[in-house]
Amino acid sequence: MIDNTPLFIVLPFIVIAFMLGIFLGRKNTEKNSVSSPFTLSSDYFKGLNYLLNEQTDKAIDVFVRMLEVGEETVDTHISLGNLYRQRGEVEQAIKIHQNIIAKPSLSLVKRNDALYELARDYMNAGLLDRAENLFLELIEKQSHVPPALKRLLSIYQQEHDWENAILTAKKLESASNKSYSQQVAHFYCELALVKYQAGHSREALKLVKKALGTDKQSVRASIIEGEINRNLGNCKAATRAYRRVEQQDPLLISEVLESLIQCYKELNNTKEIKAYLEHVLNKYGGITSILLYAQQIQQTADDKSAALFIVDSLRKKPSIRGLSSLIDISLDFTKGTAHDNLMILQEITNKLLENKPVYQCIQCGFNGKSMFWHCPSCKSWSSIKPIQGIEGE
Ligand SMILES: [Zn+2]
Repeated sequence: MIDNTPLFIVLPFIVIAFMLGIFLGRKNTEKNSVSSPFTLSSDYFKGLNYLLNEQTDKAIDVFVRMLEVGEETVDTHISLGNLYRQRGEVEQAIKIHQNIIAKPSLSLVKRNDALYELARDYMNAGLLDRAENLFLELIEKQSHVPPALKRLLSIYQQEHDWENAILTAKKLESASNKSYSQQVAHFYCELALVKYQAGHSREALKLVKKALGTDKQSVRASIIEGEINRNLGNCKAATRAYRRVEQQDPLLISEVLESLIQCYKELNNTKEIKAYLEHVLNKYGGITSILLYAQQIQQTADDKSAALFIVDSLRKKPSIRGLSSLIDISLDFTKGTAHDNLMILQEITNKLLENKPVYQCIQCGFNGKSMFWHCPSCKSWSSIKPIQGIEGE
């Protein structure tokens, strides 16, 4: 079967073929005499020919067959296996790396190198249990410790094994001198949610405390704490948790404003709703606080006053969401042609907002309409924020 492989994919294999050629040539030269030019076997040229014809599969089979695994050739074999993995041919990669490990004469260092790559193959193949066992074996042997811990952490996150994720992240902290407190706080939050969903609110609150003890900037922990307390009827504690978000990350205030207003309503403290919204408006702005404040005006005064407030705010900070709400409110007190025109405008703004993402990852640019604490694309924690500007917050 002839591959239609692009040159940039074949190129690494050609490089390996040349390395092989040099190695084999050197061996032959040593075997013969110093003065004679080195010779290469016909298999080598057969392999090279396959490569030049873009038949990498056949070429690699030839090279692997002609080159025995030994201390001097093991790196080439490992690289070949890695190239297979990069091409998505994990089965071949596993075969090559397993073949290396099967050689009893290999030094411990080289064996561990191959073991680490084999674990990566298993990970790519989705054989997470096997990958986990090999990474644990390497860590036990004090080999490849920081990268093995890092990949182990990724496995535990994929498996939602949050307890092992916490243990591994803590080990990784001491092995790499890098802080993992933000991630660990998220793992405690994940455990808290599991407990909360199982009806164990008190235990969930204890885990939230652990999250905040690990990372006092954890907005997610504050939001979960607010929600649990609100459902327990402890609105005062809930407002304290929600108001903490302002100090933790002002970009995420919009995530708690509605819940906070509900809590103050349950506490019959409408004065505090207005005061806090005014504080947020003056200090940070943001269309969510503008619209929630307009809602308060609607409830305490009338639609026209709310519309005037939005118009005034939009002059200072243009926003499509603000315009859409202004149209919605204005529809209630307009008639005739003005009403019909507003209906057209409403349709246009709704269409504009329909496909607009609301959140974006500051690490990779992934965007969407839902808030994620763990970016589905780049797997970063706490990297997704509300989009700012005319089309966003
Ligand atoms: Zn991302």
